[in-house]
Amino acid sequence: MSLVIIGSVAFDTIETPKERREKIVGGSGTYCALAASYFTRPKLVAVVGDDFPGDVIAFLKKRKVDLRGLEIVQGGKTFHWQGRYGTDPNQRETVRTDLNVFRGFRPEIPPSYKKADILFLANIDPDVQESVVRQVAKPRLTAMDTIGLWINTKREALLRVLRQVDIFFANDEEVRMISGERNLIAAGKKILEMGPSFVVLKKGEHGALILGRNRVFGILAYPCENVVDPTGAGDSFAGGFLGYLDKVGTFTWPEIKRAAAYGSALASFTIEDFGIDRFKTLRLREIEERFFRFRRNASF
Ligand code: AMP
Repeated sequence: MSLVIIGSVAFDTIETPKERREKIVGGSGTYCALAASYFTRPKLVAVVGDDFPGDVIAFLKKRKVDLRGLEIVQGGKTFHWQGRYGTDPNQRETVRTDLNVFRGFRPEIPPSYKKADILFLANIDPDVQESVVRQVAKPRLTAMDTIGLWINTKREALLRVLRQVDIFFANDEEVRMISGERNLIAAGKKILEMGPSFVVLKKGEHGALILGRNRVFGILAYPCENVVDPTGAGDSFAGGFLGYLDKVGTFTWPEIKRAAAYGSALASFTIEDFGIDRFKTLRLREIEERFFRFRRNASF
């Protein structure tokens, strides 16, 4: 099996009520690929400038992330995003977005990526997501994520991509914005009519809800007292979820539920430290421990 991820590899400036970190490494593709790397060898499609640190590239390679799809633009500056969290970690404000090398980015997919079993379109410009869908032979499973910015500014392109995916990862606000429905179940149902077979509603520190046609499954977030930096939780959830499905190779309902538990476990580790730092020490054994604790907590 193979998992291809298209997303951002970024510099993030993060402000939490306790601390501020300037230009640390983040990005939807980075978090997703690192989380998936515990189950499979993800192939990453992204772009950075030549200001991007070599030691992070070496770290991604050490985690067996395939970087043949990572374009490094000589003289270019890496995408930069700045976010601020208040006391509620589920609420964040985008302070600034510098597109830099993202401007006009049209990825060219390496030949070895074109027969992906699973394709994940992480949060990035929907025009870029669409250009990737066009270049890849129909995968067994396609999933996507997005943010309010694209729903507001590129709705038509986003709806075209949505029509072609099997799984849509989104938060409450995003499903409401797309569907125009306030009630989350009604909103989810409306999105199921727009293309996907499943909507994975990410609910931050409250967990996630998977909505399918006539099916629903809820998973708690791992109870975490020390949330250092919530950035990347959603991408890590998707990475753990899809990485696990790529490993098992079947997309049955019981496997989707297990995938959600792995996704939740990965998200819970990411937020324990700033940026991608927690991945530097994280071992599969720790992920398995949380997975089995989820299973014990969920049975009664
Ligand atoms: P998450 O916390 O999982 O929603 O994802 C946070 C990541 O999304 C950060 O590391 C950012 O670099 C990345 N990000 C934020 N805005 C954008 C954008 N407009 N396009 C691509 N990636 C973005």
